[in-house]
Amino acid sequence: MTQMICITCPQGCLLQVEKTDAGYSVSGNGCKRGIAFAEAEMTHPMRSVTGTVRTVFPQRPMLPVRTDREVPKEKMKAVARFMAEIVVEKAVACGEAVSGEIPGCGGAVLVATETI
Ligand code: SF4
Repeated sequence: MTQMICITCPQGCLLQVEKTDAGYSVSGNGCKRGIAFAEAEMTHPMRSVTGTVRTVFPQRPMLPVRTDREVPKEKMKAVARFMAEIVVEKAVACGEAVSGEIPGCGGAVLVATETI
């Protein structure tokens, strides 16, 4: 049996997951979204990634960003390395893309989470 915390909502249910012949048996979930979360975690876990990128603006040298969608969990370190290479050279609005596609992440890009 595998235990995990569902991070879909602030309730944070403690899930118990067992592999069965038909797929997975999930208990401890407060709603059906916990079942979908557990099955995704057991097969292809995904995460949104947040961080900061550098800018050319001395008064605002770092800009917080996030991926515009969830990316495979195993790509999180690659996304962090990708962020380290980005330098924002123009003013951007919150939600605006600040990068091209992140390699291997299904078309995900980085978006600003603040306006500069
Ligand atoms: S199982 Fe449902 S209620 Fe529990 S944390 Fe997940 S989404 Fe929230």
